[in-house]
Amino acid sequence: MKKNFFLALFTVLIISCSPAIKDYTKDEKNVCEIHKVKMKKQVVLIRYGLIKPQFPESVFVKYVANANFHKLGGCIYEKGMPRQAKVYYCPVCRANHKKLEKAGYNKKLKAELSKLEKSGKNYNEKQIELDFAKKILEK
Ligand SMILES: [Zn+2]
Repeated sequence: MKKNFFLALFTVLIISCSPAIKDYTKDEKNVCEIHKVKMKKQVVLIRYGLIKPQFPESVFVKYVANANFHKLGGCIYEKGMPRQAKVYYCPVCRANHKKLEKAGYNKKLKAELSKLEKSGKNYNEKQIELDFAKKILEK
């Protein structure tokens, strides 16, 4: 009798401590539009708050858009909002993301851009961002 009570209590605790997982894969296409490969499903954390993008927009769109290591949930977290999401992710986007991160992409890009800035030469920032990423990813 006592054992059943604790088992029931334990079950209730488990359920109340793990809010529902929001499914973002329903009715979504499962092919990465960048790499044309089939994406995989995974449950990831939802991050709330103002989260700074890790890479410039140009690089994000062209190389890592479907890495989906986490899901952005908006600026403010309120009680009862989901903490986990089921998402699709592209293995190629993830590999690119890791490669750029490992190569210290942002730091190197910043250094290059500041060098160009000082030189006074004309340059296209977006092009530099893309060329830099390309150089790392094609290694
Ligand atoms: Zn991809």
